[in-house]
Amino acid sequence: MKPKSHIVDLPVYLPGKPIEDVKRELGLKEVIKLASNENPFGASPLVKEAIIKEIDNISLYPDGGAVELTKDLAQYLGVQPNQIIFGCGSDEIIALITRAFFVTGDETIMADTTFSVYKSNADIEGAVTIEVPLKEGKHDLEAMLSSVSERTKVIWVCNPNNPTGTIVSKDELIAFLDQVPAEVMVVLDEAYFEYVTDHTYPDSTKLLSKYANLVVLRTFSKIYGLASLRIGYGVGQPEVIKLINQVREPFNTSRVAQAAAKVALADQAYVESCRKSNAEGIIQLQAEFDRLGLTYFPAHGNFIMVKVNRPGAEVFEALLRKGVIIRTGQAKYPEYIRVTVGSQDQNKAFIHALEQVLSEEKTPVQ
Ligand SMILES: *Cc1c(COP(=O)(O)O)cnc(C)c1O
Repeated sequence: MKPKSHIVDLPVYLPGKPIEDVKRELGLKEVIKLASNENPFGASPLVKEAIIKEIDNISLYPDGGAVELTKDLAQYLGVQPNQIIFGCGSDEIIALITRAFFVTGDETIMADTTFSVYKSNADIEGAVTIEVPLKEGKHDLEAMLSSVSERTKVIWVCNPNNPTGTIVSKDELIAFLDQVPAEVMVVLDEAYFEYVTDHTYPDSTKLLSKYANLVVLRTFSKIYGLASLRIGYGVGQPEVIKLINQVREPFNTSRVAQAAAKVALADQAYVESCRKSNAEGIIQLQAEFDRLGLTYFPAHGNFIMVKVNRPGAEVFEALLRKGVIIRTGQAKYPEYIRVTVGSQDQNKAFIHALEQVLSEEKTPVQ
């Protein structure tokens, strides 16, 4: 068999460790997962009802165009229905954009370090990834602009950035968009949009009418608490959304996911309460990091990247043995870990475990 040559050596995505695996492997009863930026409070209680109601219809194919949900979301965002595309998570929208736009040798620009899915999909399409180092954990938009060439198709801006949690402000974004050539697409990944409370953060869907090359990605996986149902969306100009739609599988979001997303969207009071608890959780964790003398990037999503001053991989392993799953800071940030903001009790348990780990002289080698 002969696969595409450029996929042969691609790595397989490494997700956060599932709770069940950790319990079994380490013989632990209590395990806290603060590794995948999931909502510690789950979904709105209305979601459960909506799912139970939809169960009777699971033998029927879903509405491939998600017409009802699209109508609700368009109204909520103040855009037209033909400006929205739903995907199996916003991960799928990322994949569809690369599928629709990239041919071998095209270039695409992103931060180093940022969400790994942009690069993995670009690699699959044979595009060349240009990774521009972050500046103090933030996108260096000027350097990203200087990397634009005639072959550039897409620039990815992750806002807040995963894993660092930093944001690009409205002024910075507008100055950037004003200079990006009109034929280059800018994908603004706002998976954590609903968590942000900083007043300099852009209201990006308002910019869509001015910048036809802008596509905004959001998801129901994070604050809405529907990660397992796999539903996210892209918003852009109708012409761009149409192109992305042309490469979409006909039934890419399920009935259950659409029904759940519809009621989750309507329950903005629940979203507001999660945003508030998260903001309190950030303050709680930052106060503890300050007490422990640890520095961290300013956090705007539901996760914090903190410098633990020793190999992050070692701290990851040691925390795992104490039943707390987090993530390491990746190659460029070897002495960092990324922790999801949990409930108040989960945050306490994490800090307790972290303090123990950091007070040990050296992590014992198993
Ligand atoms: C979680 C996440 C997504 C997508 O999640 P889906 O579950 O596929 O919607 C996209 N971008 C970033 C930066 C994320 O952290």
